[in-house]
Amino acid sequence: MKIRELVAAIEEFAPLDLQVDYDNSGLIVGRLDDEVHAALLAVDVTEEVLDEAEREGCDIIITHHPIIFSPIKRLNSATYVERCVERAIRSGIALYACHTNLDSVPGGTSWQVGAMLGLDDMTILEPRRGNPEVGFGVVGVLPRAENAKALLARVKSIFGVEALRYSDIPSEDMMVRKVAVCTGAGRSNIGDALASGAELYITADLRYNDFMMGDNRMILADIGHFESEFCAIRILYDVLSKKMCNFAVRKSANSRNPIHYLV
Ligand SMILES: [Zn+2]
Repeated sequence: MKIRELVAAIEEFAPLDLQVDYDNSGLIVGRLDDEVHAALLAVDVTEEVLDEAEREGCDIIITHHPIIFSPIKRLNSATYVERCVERAIRSGIALYACHTNLDSVPGGTSWQVGAMLGLDDMTILEPRRGNPEVGFGVVGVLPRAENAKALLARVKSIFGVEALRYSDIPSEDMMVRKVAVCTGAGRSNIGDALASGAELYITADLRYNDFMMGDNRMILADIGHFESEFCAIRILYDVLSKKMCNFAVRKSANSRNPIHYLV
């Protein structure tokens, strides 16, 4: 199959032009008319993921995060980014990223996290100006209100969070029904989550002061960047296996969290 066809299937679901201006989604290494035989799906391009691609005969790696994000000036193996890019080129492995377009599209990462929590009636947390059909984050309601502490324990278990960081719970017996979600770094959407009336905002990459932004009515929970976006693999897998049943797609066994917790 030509990369062009594979990319068309992904972009039919998550159009490339939905990526935000700081992003670098799309085909990063390879040519659209190159033939590929098997795709490997991962959150990030790493040397372990490249090992797996070579071992398993995958000639395209499709990730959530683009390996080249800030511009690079040379390819002399000084950093892991340079090593990965150079190795992919030398090994004839194409690299493709589906990042903020996957975050923005209905059915994308935040929607998947919302579905994993069992949220109903999901709407977009921050509809995009000029295109309100897409945007970052979701807000939805649980089928039944849940005790806040019990819900946090459930979140921890669903997303495999080793150490869940969360803010003050306004009252010990607080019940939560409305939940906002923004996968990845979602601190810029704290205001949207508050405005939505959510009692819990689930996101990642929060800083110290962010934990004080709940205004005594919303709990903030940081489930970890990787933990919140690991679902990207499943979304891309479902899209590709539905649209091209004769093409080999493999979920990486080496897509792992670069952050460790000593508990
Ligand atoms: Zn991310």
